[in-house]
Amino acid sequence: MAGFLAPGALTAGIRGPERGWPNESERKRGTTMDGMTTERTGAGTDATRITERTETDTAHRAGARDEGGKTVSPGFLAALERVEATPGANVETADLETLLAPRTAGETALLRGRAAAMRDRECGRRMVLRALVEFSSACGNDCKYCGLRAANRNAERYRLDAESVLESVRLARGAGIRTIVLQSGEDNRSAEWIADLLRGIKAIDDFAVTLSVGERSREDYALWKEAGADRFLLRVETTDPELYASIHENRTVETRLRCLSDLRSLGYQVGSGVMVGFPGQTLSHLARDIAFFGKKDFDMIGIGPFIPHPETPFRDASAGAVDLTLNAVAVTRLVVKNSWLPATTALGSMDRDYRIDALKAGANVVMPNYTPASEKKKYEIYPGKRCVTEGTGACAGCMEGLAAAAGLELDKGRADSVKMFGLGGKA
Ligand code: SF4
Repeated sequence: MAGFLAPGALTAGIRGPERGWPNESERKRGTTMDGMTTERTGAGTDATRITERTETDTAHRAGARDEGGKTVSPGFLAALERVEATPGANVETADLETLLAPRTAGETALLRGRAAAMRDRECGRRMVLRALVEFSSACGNDCKYCGLRAANRNAERYRLDAESVLESVRLARGAGIRTIVLQSGEDNRSAEWIADLLRGIKAIDDFAVTLSVGERSREDYALWKEAGADRFLLRVETTDPELYASIHENRTVETRLRCLSDLRSLGYQVGSGVMVGFPGQTLSHLARDIAFFGKKDFDMIGIGPFIPHPETPFRDASAGAVDLTLNAVAVTRLVVKNSWLPATTALGSMDRDYRIDALKAGANVVMPNYTPASEKKKYEIYPGKRCVTEGTGACAGCMEGLAAAAGLELDKGRADSVKMFGLGGKA
């Protein structure tokens, strides 16, 4: 796999929970169970957090007991059961912080297993497919974590014409897939062009179509809904205003939230999400973001690790920890209950394919790439993205095996929002 990750970046996240409690030198250095370090998250915040952790560790040792053959503390188990039993809008962020940082392999296994069980109960034991077409790598924004940022003059840009997109859509249809995700940078493509494209896709078949094209006016969103768009993905990345400002240029979280609110009121099935482990993010931020997902009752939530891109201001930052990302997927499942959660491509682009682990932790969506083979390598939000050299749609051939490895049925149908239409329902 790609050699872009800092040495130890992945194991930092895995090592703690699997091995047990951090030792004294790790505490002094600022390494926490989730693999975040003082250097990455700010000394003041982490100093507080590590003190709390030390106290919690002592209590944990005193109270640890065996739960079905696994070592699980009463506090962890109580937090897990509270979150499971509580509607997403009312969960306590303190419980989410506890669950995001299991102290033992037993707690990790229990968390992810219970999340997978909730997925099975709420959404069925299946892995659904969404065909992804990245139709433009042009972007006028300068998000500090993204390789497509406008300031990256070395990025190769492309804009597909409508016929190229429709060709990808026909390929997906040939593979039996009934959901199309149209994604692009914020390239300011005209609203009418996108509306025409939506009509063209709907003329091919009864697809569910998801747009992921960033912040636009309410009028544009309304036009696209009218033209046939069913769903919209807009990751918030963080709901904390200061943290949001620190990773974006000339953008505010208020605008982001306004867009999400517009989309909801226009009747879209709405998706959001976050990166895990970007500079400045703490466990507390992540817990609050997951609580926000519960309050907003999103239909879809994407969670992937931050992966540093060499052409961005965050080029020297460490990648987000895989283990924390998987825990975030599991905790999100327990909070939102019946949303669609992708096993993100970013999780499949690390030192190995962690999408299976995400599926075993409550995720239930995979997005095979149907961007034309000639262009998909250029859609480089982060480096080392998987499967960019295969033919258009070749990913779909691996999906049966991925689902089987996770013990799930493969579902190529529309898989509309369970929240809006129930299990097996259709928009
Ligand atoms: S994250 Fe999206 S909006 Fe931001 S620079 Fe990348 S493509 Fe553009």
